[in-house]
Amino acid sequence: MTVLSGVLVLPGGLQAGELHFGRTIEQINIQPQPGSVPVRYLLPGFIDSHVHGGNGGDTMDGVAGIDTLARFHARHGTTTLLPTTITNPWGQVLAALEAVREVMTRGVPGGADIVGAHLEGPFISPNKLGAQPPLTLAPTPERVAQALETGSIRAVTLAPEMAGAAQAGLDFARAGVRVGVGHTTADAETVRDFLKAVQAAGGRTAATHLYNAMGGIEGRVPGAAGALITDAQTWLEVILDGVHVHEISFLLAATAAAGRVMLITDAMRAAGLGDGESELGGQKVIVKDGKAVLADGRSIAGSVLTLDVALRNALATGLSLPDVSRMLSAAPANSLGLMDRGRLDVGLRADVVVLSEQFEVEAVYVGGQQINREQVAGASL
Ligand SMILES: [Zn+2]
Repeated sequence: MTVLSGVLVLPGGLQAGELHFGRTIEQINIQPQPGSVPVRYLLPGFIDSHVHGGNGGDTMDGVAGIDTLARFHARHGTTTLLPTTITNPWGQVLAALEAVREVMTRGVPGGADIVGAHLEGPFISPNKLGAQPPLTLAPTPERVAQALETGSIRAVTLAPEMAGAAQAGLDFARAGVRVGVGHTTADAETVRDFLKAVQAAGGRTAATHLYNAMGGIEGRVPGAAGALITDAQTWLEVILDGVHVHEISFLLAATAAAGRVMLITDAMRAAGLGDGESELGGQKVIVKDGKAVLADGRSIAGSVLTLDVALRNALATGLSLPDVSRMLSAAPANSLGLMDRGRLDVGLRADVVVLSEQFEVEAVYVGGQQINREQVAGASL
């Protein structure tokens, strides 16, 4: 049994108290008096539904890459994640999904819990690739079935205007997969109708990195972003790294879609490695001053973000710690149908992040197991 005391970030707000846990949270004691000094915060573990890599590892590398990224992001407070694939030859995408299945089954000692893959590409628009290689495919029923047979997909990104996307959205929804709209040229009406159809089939819907690789918001042209923000049942991924999304655009989503914004990293393998050359989906990437771009200059190439940094960036916009915590834990858990985690509550998994008064990671617990402290100290936070 582990007992931690501090300021608990609970669904109802901040409360000084104690958290007792083994593999699950067993007891929460609220103190009637204000918390002790120095302050430290206890938060539910962070959940990243969109992360390609970190510390040199990438989902497309297979098992070893997934282990590496799961351990790296755990040191930054991520206790649950979805290794995310990229548009590549179909056989390689399926191989990566199989690797995620293998890692899901055995777990990653010292790493985040892997609850499935995010299939990002190849079912996206060739006209909104962002940093995805130009190898997009139509989501035919055969390919959707092949992907689902791997048993690992928990989230998918689709461009609703692609031939076959409407049926694919329904097929994924019925398989329990969160259906995200992204890398799309669809207009607002097309996106709205697609979301409604998926939801009518019992599916959970999301925006894949809201604002990036989709149409923006203007008065007469609300675009995909407008349709996604205003759909009351759609969760919204946002990359808050100071590069992908303007602070005011983030606040627009946070205000209009309270409780539905989810912070993600979209991190690529160079996250944690500093500036230099790297790789994404077989393409050369240059990382400079914390910004990753394709070497040909075509696009931003994912991020080098970690969720502890995203938390501090969100706090810097003026949002409260409980609101930001919801974006990192409860919202992504709900979007993925993960009912056993996402908040500090008795009976849920003991996924816990301890932050200092300056919101730096001090300790991380995944299912009650503490992540190696040397690894935490060695991480570039
Ligand atoms: Zn993307």
